[in-house]
Amino acid sequence: MSLENLPPVPPEPVPTGLAGRCPRCGKGGLFDGFLKLKPACPVCGLDFGFADSADGPAFFAMTFIGFLVAGAAVIVELAYTPPFWLHIVLWLPLILLLALILLRPLKGLAIALQYAHRAKEGEIDRDAP
Ligand SMILES: [Zn+2]
Repeated sequence: MSLENLPPVPPEPVPTGLAGRCPRCGKGGLFDGFLKLKPACPVCGLDFGFADSADGPAFFAMTFIGFLVAGAAVIVELAYTPPFWLHIVLWLPLILLLALILLRPLKGLAIALQYAHRAKEGEIDRDAP
């Protein structure tokens, strides 16, 4: 696909990002591994050098998983008062599983939103009044 064949309307960033697709064409894959990005889109050639999600996806995954697991642990503790080892057996695998499930879509979402909003590093305009 060349630039002339791009869709007339850019793809929606949320479903495109969650699916791990290119934010410009919505067709090419974003990832070259679990979390590593491809250097460019194999379909439209968009250079993914602009993409820098930093620790945003990890922060949102950690926050969501933390509230979910902590709430579930409190509910289970109050309802059944299980031994401590059972908490570890229950919640540690759940934390790992949810982190593995959430990190990739959240990284794709962060990059798609970064592209859609043309987000970049802040600059100081010294000529501004
Ligand atoms: Zn593309």
